Amino acid sequence: MQTIFGRILSGEIPCNKVFEDDVVLAFHDVAPVAPVHILVIPKREVPSLAHVEQTDAEMLGHLLHRAAEIGKEHAPNGFRVVVNTGGDGGQTVEHLHLHVLGGRPLAWPPG
Ligand code: 5GP
Repeated sequence: MQTIFGRILSGEIPCNKVFEDDVVLAFHDVAPVAPVHILVIPKREVPSLAHVEQTDAEMLGHLLHRAAEIGKEHAPNGFRVVVNTGGDGGQTVEHLHLHVLGGRPLAWPPG
């Protein structure tokens, strides 16, 4: 079954787009937990970080590089990239995504 991010990718559900190329789409999170909260997702449907293979290395590098570029632009004082994975990891949407968080000091460790 298609995830909410699959429906965003197909254009069925709108998003507030930040960046798009052949490999990734980045858009503002609908329920931000920080002043900057942007999601970076691969266009290919990969359920989670636990599902990636060695052959996904180029796609993963592309995603992380884009997250860095977005973080530098939107949160120049610093940012955090989070990949929630699985139930205990807090993942709610089963399509791999990077959260780019910033715009305020972020506590560590997370709760
Ligand atoms: P997860 O909890 O899986 O790591 O993150 C999923 C994120 O997707 C959450 O931060 C949630 O607010 C966001 N989200 C869920 N549905 C939508 C949506 O329809 N549009 C946007 N822009 N973000 C969404």
